[in-house]
Amino acid sequence: MVKNKYDITEFRKKELSELAEFVADEYFQDTFVCPHRLAKIYGISTSFNDYGNSFDGLLEHKTGKFHIYLNSNKVKHIYEPRLRFTLAHELGHYLIDEHRNALRLGLSPSHPSFTNFSSDNEVELEADFFASSLLIPKSRLLKDVYRRKFSFTIIEEIAAKYQTSITATLIKFASIGNHPIMIICSVDKKIKWFKYSADFPFKYIDALPDFKVPKNTSAGRFFYENGEKCEGEADLVYAEDWFKLYKEEDYGRHFNEYCIYSDKNKFVLSVIWEG
Ligand SMILES: [Zn+2]
Repeated sequence: MVKNKYDITEFRKKELSELAEFVADEYFQDTFVCPHRLAKIYGISTSFNDYGNSFDGLLEHKTGKFHIYLNSNKVKHIYEPRLRFTLAHELGHYLIDEHRNALRLGLSPSHPSFTNFSSDNEVELEADFFASSLLIPKSRLLKDVYRRKFSFTIIEEIAAKYQTSITATLIKFASIGNHPIMIICSVDKKIKWFKYSADFPFKYIDALPDFKVPKNTSAGRFFYENGEKCEGEADLVYAEDWFKLYKEEDYGRHFNEYCIYSDKNKFVLSVIWEG
């Protein structure tokens, strides 16, 4: 198995997914998971204030008590998907034994977390995966997508149903094995991170030097052809446009690339699946 530094192992995902699902079923069996209620159940106090750009969320351990700081700098109210995710992420640091014990023992000081999926720190990746699993428990998601052909509409539906961001939804969807997808996040031509389903056929991106987005792709057209976009529908790309190929028969395999753009941040999120 190829080790991707932007993701955790399938084995660890399974453990975290089971832990999250256990918590979701224990307290929110037939309802929507509310991380605010969960914090109350565990006796963790929270505060919601403007802390500038220093973090999105932070779990602090002081004299036997846990407290979560939530930054209001980029969100308006506490039920926004972004803040729900931040809180679920911090609850992950509390609920994952290794994270909580490290905090308790003072091995790792309370550390700032950011809700932008840009970290390649294992502890952060674990808390992110836990958060998406808590907000979208696996068995519920499997029911939602059962026997449905994959399209980006499904992701939008799930995100609306569970009040999660598109990125958090994609990360969870990629892990359930219903349909193999790859998610690639690039900023200003550079690939920042990527994640893929265990059964996605290709694992190596054929990037340009400095890990830049390959030209002949939908994301590439945005970066190299004056912001050209393919919005609201998937673009056709070939396996060789994105991936390193080792077998002749893989050339010409058709893939869909669906992009979400942010002009302001020079950001593209590409979702790729065969079809
Ligand atoms: Zn964190």
